[in-house]
Amino acid sequence: MSSFPTSTVLGYPRIGPDRELKRALEAYWDGRSTRAELERVGAELRARTWRRLAELGLEGLPSNTFSVYDQVLDTSVLLGAVPSRYRDAADPYFAMARGTEGRAPLRMTKWFDTNYHYLVPEIGPETEFRLDAGKPLGEVREARALGYETRPVVLGPVTYLLLGSALDRLDEVLGCYAELLSALAAEGVAWVQLDEPALVGDRTASELAAVRTAYERLGSMGARPGLFVASYFGSLGEALPVLAGTPVEAIGLDLVRGPVPETDLTGKTVVAGVVSGRDVWRTSPGRALAALAAVRASRVVVSTSCSLQHVPYSVAAEPELEPGVRARLAFAEEKVAEVVALAGADFLSPGFENAGYEVTGSEVAGFGGTDSEVAGFEGDGFGGDVPVGRPSVALPGPVVAGERSPYAVRAAAQAEHLSLPPLPVTTIGSFPQTGELRAARAAVASGTLSQAGYEHRVEAEIERVIRLQERLGLDVLVHGEPERNDMVQYFAEHLDGFAVTRLGWVQSYGSRCTRPPILYGDVSRPSPITARWAAHAQSLTDKPVKGMLTGPVTIVAWSFVRDDLPLRDVVLQVADAVRQEVRDLEAAGVSIIQVDEPALRELLPLRRAAQADYLEWAVAAYRRATSGAGDRTQIHTHLCYSDADQILDAIDGLDADVTTIESARSGARILGAVSAFGRGLGPGVYDIHSPRVPSAEEVESLVRRTVAALPVERVWVNPDCGLKTRTYEQVEASLANVVTAARRLRDEL
Ligand code: GLN
Ligand code: ZN
Repeated sequence: MSSFPTSTVLGYPRIGPDRELKRALEAYWDGRSTRAELERVGAELRARTWRRLAELGLEGLPSNTFSVYDQVLDTSVLLGAVPSRYRDAADPYFAMARGTEGRAPLRMTKWFDTNYHYLVPEIGPETEFRLDAGKPLGEVREARALGYETRPVVLGPVTYLLLGSALDRLDEVLGCYAELLSALAAEGVAWVQLDEPALVGDRTASELAAVRTAYERLGSMGARPGLFVASYFGSLGEALPVLAGTPVEAIGLDLVRGPVPETDLTGKTVVAGVVSGRDVWRTSPGRALAALAAVRASRVVVSTSCSLQHVPYSVAAEPELEPGVRARLAFAEEKVAEVVALAGADFLSPGFENAGYEVTGSEVAGFGGTDSEVAGFEGDGFGGDVPVGRPSVALPGPVVAGERSPYAVRAAAQAEHLSLPPLPVTTIGSFPQTGELRAARAAVASGTLSQAGYEHRVEAEIERVIRLQERLGLDVLVHGEPERNDMVQYFAEHLDGFAVTRLGWVQSYGSRCTRPPILYGDVSRPSPITARWAAHAQSLTDKPVKGMLTGPVTIVAWSFVRDDLPLRDVVLQVADAVRQEVRDLEAAGVSIIQVDEPALRELLPLRRAAQADYLEWAVAAYRRATSGAGDRTQIHTHLCYSDADQILDAIDGLDADVTTIESARSGARILGAVSAFGRGLGPGVYDIHSPRVPSAEEVESLVRRTVAALPVERVWVNPDCGLKTRTYEQVEASLANVVTAARRLRDEL
């Protein structure tokens, strides 16, 4: 078996440096192009990636990390797990991804603790696993035709089945993997990478036994490529000795999130993830080299901690970033250069550990440290005189909780102040973002529209949205969020300590990308952000207008954040900025303030042992952000696409006066769970992810279901989430039916 290359990455972005894939997908979906044209764009992106990785000097090139939609969906196709309802669709792949007339798509959820979403495998008794190796084999051949030998990357059998809640099907699925390995061997492939990120979570004894079974069986095959099992997003813990006891030749470890394990891995190759795939900071060579030198294995290969699909393409596309910040950044390309540079350092030579490559106390881990103390290291990936993070401002005092009066006192004050009808109808904040608004923002950026001209348009849009809500008969209005490009980026643009990028796109799902802001320093709020828009909206109407803010956990979850401070402290700094904003909204005459926290679940640590601590500070941060409000100001929170079950106590702990939560898809289960909160609740009455307009009868039956489960005086009526991805036509029709339904029930009271 040929030895593993000296340097590699576990995966690479695929959306295209200029979101070429997004455009190709949308053209295909809209019928403006063909599947063949989409394939051509895909092939071009793959070729460009291999060429670039090779140019940068990377030895081990991965393949099959490209996907036109999602790598988990690709694995379902690879294994033949295509539910029968899609088989006769015009394009079964995209029918599974996005649904098609009358056929719901596969369920989508977040990939471990990232903001990437995958399509959950749907495995039932009728599923017949059958290998379809066309994609991985095709990519190997395609790369070879361009002159590159590659290592196909495939999601491993244990993680795949755990995602599909079907580990009992291991035996059948292993049959497919065995066939795949034979086919790859016949193709002359030297190594295959099987990703097993699920192994960094808590695993039961029987799940660990499944790992042993899987890799003993695959490892004992005669003709097969070298087996590289990659783990990421944390430490393998108890799964490491299990894997090490199987015949797999190489094991990938995330040495950014976890320490170098003490386990003696002599006899194995360790693919050491020392360059982070989860942040945008330049790697500290001192720290990376120390980790590499500490690994006890027969061979150590330099790699990234996970796929680079979670970071943007290149810092080179960001000439406008402030030089001090820019100098500290590494996106995918720069991280590849770091991997190559580290692989060129002679970190395994005897006496290395005494050569001064140790992590010193003064070093700021990963935070753009130059390691001037690491004398003599001049890899290509580093260099320059990079300023290290400023010392932090002291956090103002201990976390305050329970500063507001007990709920009963608040509720009475609010009832008197707001005098709302029973079953008040509201929305979650955003109204459709029109093309004109996006064009106006682009025009401001390019200098063809003045700031004043833009603000004028935003005000006009707010007025339109207010009038629409009045006409429809909603009870608590919103301003519609027309000034926001994104619920996190907008705040980042107005807070000190954040930078935003021009092309720093990261795939969220399918064609959807976000540009996560970069939180690089201490966060503070130079001036009020949203108060003027909310106050303007309130000045137009006698109905209460709900102010709209993004919560501290969500702002941090959907940004790249500094890692020289504990995450908790970073979140608390953001919480203080939000707290000031809450106070300003209140002072501007806004009586209801919603602080959204849809990412509360996403940051939950993968290991149970760390979860309680996280939930404690996350809840404390939320309360710090909101507890400055007086009793008669009503605080709302909103959560969505969260498997709320696991964090119900924390949601309760937020102590919001009203909690609006997705429920159209999760159903009655969530009602039972949240009924114990004892405060206001707005379980969503229709799914805004679909263009479908719900009928008044349908909404009415959902509200009936809700009032059967909860005291009616606590029930709110609202959609599942914000309306920004819908059209005005859909929104008007849907909300009209929601109001009709609420009034019918109100009349019965
Ligand atoms: N207020 C936001 C909106 O309506 C909430 C979005 C979200 O929960 N993701 O768009
Ligand atoms: Zn939502």
